Amino acid sequence: MASKILPVAARFRPAPPRGAGLFFAFTPGSWARVATVRVTRRLHFSAAHRLHNPAFSDEENRRIFGPCNHPNWHGHNYELDVTVEGQPDPGTGYVVDLGLLRDAAEAVVADLDHRNLNLDVPWLRDVIPSTENLVVALWHRLAPVVPAGRLVKLTLWETPRNSAEYSGE
Ligand SMILES: [Zn+2]
Repeated sequence: MASKILPVAARFRPAPPRGAGLFFAFTPGSWARVATVRVTRRLHFSAAHRLHNPAFSDEENRRIFGPCNHPNWHGHNYELDVTVEGQPDPGTGYVVDLGLLRDAAEAVVADLDHRNLNLDVPWLRDVIPSTENLVVALWHRLAPVVPAGRLVKLTLWETPRNSAEYSGE
């Protein structure tokens, strides 16, 4: 009885291919070649910063940036999700070797890890190191060094509750 109430789209959906892993490995030219897949590597770094705009008064800075305006710095434990899109290689089944992606991304993040983002990072000079500005700056460093596929999304978590996402627009 249940099948009679399935929506039309569900009734005509083709069965998924069996042994999908084998398709990727041994069937060049199969559906795997036209599948576009996103893969994500998560990185971690810790850094200190202060959100402060010298064009605002001290009181405005305190009101706008709250605890992130504390004059003697404070730190965050950041998580960065690096998402790459592409078609799985027929020989490996990989969009990108995640070990190579990790190495490329960690080389960029090494500039930030255990650093003061306001003082220590030449490519953040004169940038208010908000999560938004950081994720855009990271995009410009990471997009050219992705080893395969193309960078389609970065998500930077400043806290487990606050994140900023950027896709290059
Ligand atoms: Zn902060």
